[in-house]
Amino acid sequence: MDLLNTLVEKGLRRELPTREEALAVLATSDDELLDVVAAAGKVRRQWFGRRVKLNYLVNLKSGLCPEDCSYCSQRLGSKAEILKYTWLKPDEASQAAAAGVAGGAKRVCLVASGRGPTDRDVERVGKTIEAIKEQNEGVEVCACLGLLSDGQAERLREAGADAYNHNLNTSEATYGDITKTHTYADRVDTVQKAHAAGLSACSGLIAGMGESDEDLVDVVYALRDLDSDSVPVNFLIPFEGTPLAKEWNLTPQRCLRILAMVRFVCPDVEVRIAGGREVHLRSMQPLALNIANSIFLGDYLTSEGQAGQADLDMIADAGFEVEGAGTTTLPAHRADALAAASGGCGSHAAAEGSGCGSQAPAEGAGCGSHAGGGCGPCGGHAEAPAEAPAAEAASNTARTDLVAVRRRGAGTDLAPNA
Ligand code: SF4
Repeated sequence: MDLLNTLVEKGLRRELPTREEALAVLATSDDELLDVVAAAGKVRRQWFGRRVKLNYLVNLKSGLCPEDCSYCSQRLGSKAEILKYTWLKPDEASQAAAAGVAGGAKRVCLVASGRGPTDRDVERVGKTIEAIKEQNEGVEVCACLGLLSDGQAERLREAGADAYNHNLNTSEATYGDITKTHTYADRVDTVQKAHAAGLSACSGLIAGMGESDEDLVDVVYALRDLDSDSVPVNFLIPFEGTPLAKEWNLTPQRCLRILAMVRFVCPDVEVRIAGGREVHLRSMQPLALNIANSIFLGDYLTSEGQAGQADLDMIADAGFEVEGAGTTTLPAHRADALAAASGGCGSHAAAEGSGCGSQAPAEGAGCGSHAGGGCGPCGGHAEAPAEAPAAEAASNTARTDLVAVRRRGAGTDLAPNA
């Protein structure tokens, strides 16, 4: 297929595909799907080999959020019966993080529900980061606390944070449909603040909220413009008790096409299969490892993932290897640019015109990203989701049996899944 040959060549050169090429990936047929995965796999292997980076979520504060992100089980008015608790103490968070690190996680993602942190919250998270780093040498810490005010990104950086997550979630044009309490521009501002402070920017999307192919391409191009080092791709978990509970729009094939499109547009960034991996990719998860180079180990913020050991077995069975703590995740050109930005005065290099971001940063909102689980405005689609493609919707059924509310780990007396 000429399209795929072109996309591979561009991906190996870190060249931006045209919008038409990105849209064409989403429009490929099931007969072409393995060719699409193989082509994206060539780009993945060029920049990340056969390594899989494991990330571990610690939900520092769960539920009771005043924001209204439609996809989120922690939103204002959510009827989802999730765990609700206020800030974990630094030693509690550190204990949860240690379980993930022992399971092979290289990065710990500290997430808190809410519009954004107070200065006192930032101080509290700073102590938590210190505790985690003391206990787990070499671990990376990403904070995901929502919209940042001036100076907070710098304080998190000083406290030892390596990265900051704030997802754009969906296109600018549809953002107002999923969230009314903050804007797409708010989200972009926070990603830019993180970047300017020398933090590695992590920003992604949520698919399956009723968006069009054009919306998906728009948000991925926006992420590239923001120069995110990592792009979590969430697949909406339609939680009962949220406005998007009936949005079962995804098939495993659709998820693979979306991941491939992200890989072609952002060839040299950490593409992470995030929330909804088990629910929507199901038995196709190992195939997706040929495209993405990163996953979350174990559970999500408010829902349970497959057993951590099943994640590790899947990686080994598919012929991949867990990335070790001594390995640099990003390709040298991106790692060098990040080091220059974080070591300097926070000027943030634009990564040599390649990767997921040769242009100015501009990113998005809320806190986090882990579809359906919420934390910061991750993505979602409000009360009026667009129609899903008929063929896709018809071939998929609601798999509510695969959605399990988290009842273990952080905020409970039970051991975490890692
Ligand atoms: S995504 Fe974040 S900001 Fe939005 S409702 Fe959920 S916890 Fe609140």
